[in-house]
Amino acid sequence: MILSVRSPDPTVLTPPNPCPGLFYTTAAQDGYLIRIRVPGGLLTSQQCRVLVGVSDPLGNGAIDVTNRANLQIRGLAEPLPDLLLSQLQQVKLAAPFSQVDHLRNIMASPLAGIDPAQLMDTRPLVRDLDQYLSSQPALAGLPAKFSVGIDGGEQVSIRQQPNDVRLSAVQVDGEAEAYFQLSLPNRAEPILLKSSHAVAAVAAIAQAYRKSLEPGSKSRLKQVMQTLGSQAFLERVQADLSFPFLYNAASRSPSSANFVAPIGIFPQAQVGRFALGIALPLGRLQVVQLQQIVNLADGYGSGSLRLTPWRSLILTDIAKADLPRVQQQVEELGLSTAKTSIWSGLIACSGTTGCASSLTDTQTDAKAIAAELDRLDSPLTIHFSGCPKSCAHHGSSDLTLVGAASNHYHLYIGGLESPFGRQLAINLSPADLPAKINQLLAVYQKQRSHSSQSFREFVDRYSLAQLQAWLEGR
Ligand code: SF4
Repeated sequence: MILSVRSPDPTVLTPPNPCPGLFYTTAAQDGYLIRIRVPGGLLTSQQCRVLVGVSDPLGNGAIDVTNRANLQIRGLAEPLPDLLLSQLQQVKLAAPFSQVDHLRNIMASPLAGIDPAQLMDTRPLVRDLDQYLSSQPALAGLPAKFSVGIDGGEQVSIRQQPNDVRLSAVQVDGEAEAYFQLSLPNRAEPILLKSSHAVAAVAAIAQAYRKSLEPGSKSRLKQVMQTLGSQAFLERVQADLSFPFLYNAASRSPSSANFVAPIGIFPQAQVGRFALGIALPLGRLQVVQLQQIVNLADGYGSGSLRLTPWRSLILTDIAKADLPRVQQQVEELGLSTAKTSIWSGLIACSGTTGCASSLTDTQTDAKAIAAELDRLDSPLTIHFSGCPKSCAHHGSSDLTLVGAASNHYHLYIGGLESPFGRQLAINLSPADLPAKINQLLAVYQKQRSHSSQSFREFVDRYSLAQLQAWLEGR
């Protein structure tokens, strides 16, 4: 039963937040869109079947995974009917109080709870935090960008993903149990807390943030802490807590984390069980593909799926003997489980078809690159952004193409300069991109110093003039 629907008025389609949500509808070039928040990216096959039922008759036949491991349905002709909203609430894909649904921005490692190397299983914390945020109507005024990241020390880490509040598992000298290091904007000094205190600590931060906001203000936590001073803000947080934060304790983070899309096979902590990472073309699943993936999750796994902030998908709990069969069936759906699949590192925002700010048709141009790029023998990340806002991806990629006037692109390379890397060329026509990128790739594959040297490590060693010569085939 819906406790509260579409705030503030179901006939008004202007969202109360600039970020898309579920109980308000956001207008885009291709119709209305809704965003369904999936805390921790954790999904069950039952939830997926409800999703299929929601998106099949109303959307454009596809479901997108976002760069916060949430889901988006585009191309809606009208807002979601109450009956479907109620179904989403019943399977916990929506908050019981609609006015706080936009706050369920909880990110976790896609290997949470199944990684043999993790320091702690963060899934119970994700659920407890979701329950807290979903049941606090008083927090409704917080902006939809308020976000929490929880990293349990897994091999696939979300520590580099942007979140307002980050909890990272660390080992503390002299302590058997792992602690969390709490990171907040504008706060360099590390704060430690016990894992059992994490929900209370985030709850106190959210409440202090709420009390510090001017009525109607959508200021980010970073701005609020800057205005108040981080120590004064922390004192407000501490006043709500029955335990003290720990400062200055010596702690160690796991040293061997990965920050790339988890594609392929991963042995789990659960003996004899494996997770399978699946690359999705531009983060998109057709509804019919989702139906088949859910059947695989039920037939070969435990009915659980994970969404990742790299816009990919993971099936878990597969027996070793079943892996080849599952991989083959995934390939037959037109998806890939290969780390070197172009789709594992190709990202594009919605472009002109979905966004009025876009200068280029990023989706079409990215698909053309996927079709015409020579075979990859190591992972490569390419990001198409219709404007410099970079909605689809935070941080640099191996190659970044930013939309420019007259449907052209500026090309950036490597990770030496922020936000996109060094500018390698300007005003490139989409038609010229495949050949130019193939030229760069050919030089990399021929001249890299060893087979495991990444594209980024290789290009960051050379001058722009040299890279420009290679781009031009000289
Ligand atoms: S990056 Fe720019 S063009 Fe792309 S979706 Fe965001 S605002 Fe639109």
